[in-house]
Amino acid sequence: MPEPESYDGSCLCGAVRYRITGPPGTMSNCHCTDCRKSHAAAFSTYIDVDRSVLRFVSGEDRLTTYRALSGTMRSFCPTCGTIVLCFTETDPDWVDISVATLDTATAKRPEYHIFVRSKAPWHDILDGKPQHQAAYGRGY
Ligand SMILES: [Zn+2]
Ligand SMILES: [Zn+2]
Repeated sequence: MPEPESYDGSCLCGAVRYRITGPPGTMSNCHCTDCRKSHAAAFSTYIDVDRSVLRFVSGEDRLTTYRALSGTMRSFCPTCGTIVLCFTETDPDWVDISVATLDTATAKRPEYHIFVRSKAPWHDILDGKPQHQAAYGRGY
C-alpha cells in the first residue's frame, strides 16, 4: 500500500480534526506510567510529526493541555477525553500524534517499544520488536 500524501485524524467526538501534510516519522509504543494512566490503556502509540506539517481543521482552540511532572504535555479534547498529541517544551518543533486518532490508513507500524521498565505487568509484548527500558529515539 503506498503511503498517502496526507493523513486526517480526529478525536472521538469529532470536535478536534487535524491534517498532516508531510511524511510522518517514527512510530513507537510507549509503556511509561504517564502514557498508561493518561490513555487508560496498556501503552500508547505515537508517531513523530514536524509541527510545521500539522494543521488543525477544527477544534484547536478547544484542546486542553495537561503538563505531567515529567514535563511532557498532552493535549486532549475536553469533551470526549481523546489525547490527540503530546510534546515537550525542550523539543517544541516536533509533536507526537496519537496514532489511534488517525482516520487515514497507514502501512507504517511501531518500530520499537520504549519505557518497557514501567510496562503493565499484565501486558505481554509479543511482536518481537526492540524493547528499550527507557527513552529512545527522537528528542532524547
Ligand atoms: Zn472530542
Ligand atoms: Zn509514554
